[in-house]
Amino acid sequence: MKQYSHIFFDLDKTLWDFEANSRAVMEDLYMRYALKKRGVPGVTEFFAVYSTINDRLWEQYRKGAIRKQALKVKRFELALRHFSIFDVALANLFGREYLELLPEKTVLMPGTHALLSYLKPKYPLHIITNGFEEVQEKKMRNTLILDYFTAIITSEAAGARKPNAAIFRYAFEKTGAMPANSLMIGDDLEVDVIGAKESGMDQIYFNPGRLVHTVPVTWEVAGLLAVKEIL
Ligand SMILES: [Mg+2]
Repeated sequence: MKQYSHIFFDLDKTLWDFEANSRAVMEDLYMRYALKKRGVPGVTEFFAVYSTINDRLWEQYRKGAIRKQALKVKRFELALRHFSIFDVALANLFGREYLELLPEKTVLMPGTHALLSYLKPKYPLHIITNGFEEVQEKKMRNTLILDYFTAIITSEAAGARKPNAAIFRYAFEKTGAMPANSLMIGDDLEVDVIGAKESGMDQIYFNPGRLVHTVPVTWEVAGLLAVKEIL
């Protein structure tokens, strides 16, 4: 078995349950702004529409096609518009309050604490995330996982987003890790796994939805605790 010197984790959807937390915020906003009265039938419907739009805009953001400020508001503007609410001021409020409320939510993926407390004495652990700098640390503090990690690499600090090799190079510089003795664990095949592979790292594809694919990966797990069998 190969001996690793550094373990890098993705945060959103790998450790921090983005779906559950994002939905919880949407419930708050749905109630606060009485969206039912304005014709949005339910939180589930709103969240589904928002999620589709958000995924599409994140894809554009990752490619550098839109800016962070535009992404923050546009996703709500378009979701509201889908329900015939043409209200840019409301979209702006949603954009701001969503990001204020999101890091206060504390649902983690099952097994997060158990895995991190198992790994912590054995390896330096780090985060590499494309999320917004001001939000990610708050999420980690509020879910009591911040202390497991030595370095937190954000795309904003690195000036590049996964899967761009530049963010991985930045991570190696910042931590003193070498690609050959580093391992990346993440839920996104393209962004985390292929990005890491092309930077010379081994990878664990965390694939709880058991999505079918043809990419050769070093390891694949459907649950976090299965990582203990590998490390
Ligand atoms: Mg992720």
